[in-house]
Amino acid sequence: MSFFEVHDPVFATYVMFNAPVKRLATGLDWAEGPVWFGDQNCLLFSDIPNNRIMRWSEEGLTTFRNPANYTNGHTRDRQGRLVSCEHGGRRVTRTEWDGSITVLADGYQGKRFNSPNDVIVASDGAVWFTDPHYGIMTDYEGFKAPEELPCSVYRIAPDGTVEAVITDMACPNGLAFSPDESRLYVADTGRMFSGDPQHIKVFDMVGGRPVNGRIFHSISPGCADGIRVDSDGNLWSSAADGVHCIAPDGRLLGKILVPEIVSNICFGGRAKHRLFITATTSVYSVILNRRGVQWP
Ligand code: MG
Repeated sequence: MSFFEVHDPVFATYVMFNAPVKRLATGLDWAEGPVWFGDQNCLLFSDIPNNRIMRWSEEGLTTFRNPANYTNGHTRDRQGRLVSCEHGGRRVTRTEWDGSITVLADGYQGKRFNSPNDVIVASDGAVWFTDPHYGIMTDYEGFKAPEELPCSVYRIAPDGTVEAVITDMACPNGLAFSPDESRLYVADTGRMFSGDPQHIKVFDMVGGRPVNGRIFHSISPGCADGIRVDSDGNLWSSAADGVHCIAPDGRLLGKILVPEIVSNICFGGRAKHRLFITATTSVYSVILNRRGVQWP
């Protein structure tokens, strides 16, 4: 079988048709939030329903943290430290070099976040994250709760100041900057059970803030959850049938076909040209002819 579907001839140069989509690990309940640690040659990711962060390397799969406050998305800050979105704690945390956990933000204007979902770190060190309501709509360990804040995108400045930077999306989810940080992409997966339209929006970054939000692309089948950008500015998005590659002008270029619904992705490997894919019960990877730029 082919692992790829070409919609634009350029996509044929982005993939290596003899490079398989490999299943690296399975037996998970909902794999999410992959983040690559090149210095340890391993991938960390969340297995949300089982309340654990897993660690995959060529030596196998082990548990990195359990319990883990039901983490979802992860990234690394500019010092390489793990930054995590917690559904259980309704907060964004940083794991220090000694293993202790620092809370970066757990609320805004005196109210608790909903359930921080995905996170990126900008070149100035600011932490950007989305706060949809999915986590508190789910009754894991009884933390189903009413929303205290609208589902928004937040920025945590290096000095810790929290600011709501996008407040007019239904349910912001995955997010990514373009290589030069002139654009911000945010997936809107809509409010649960609402029938809201689902699409990826793009914003122009002006004065360090996102403006002029507009629809960039609508993923089908399924919807965009996690997204990442390669060094040419192409956007790679999760979808129900795999990973879709979308040009900076919004055109679908091609697909990586994955046999499970994909939640999230990240680039990794020594050359940043290995795409790691969390997909329902499993984690996959595939070697590409593109390199990721999204930090890390
Ligand atoms: Mg997500």
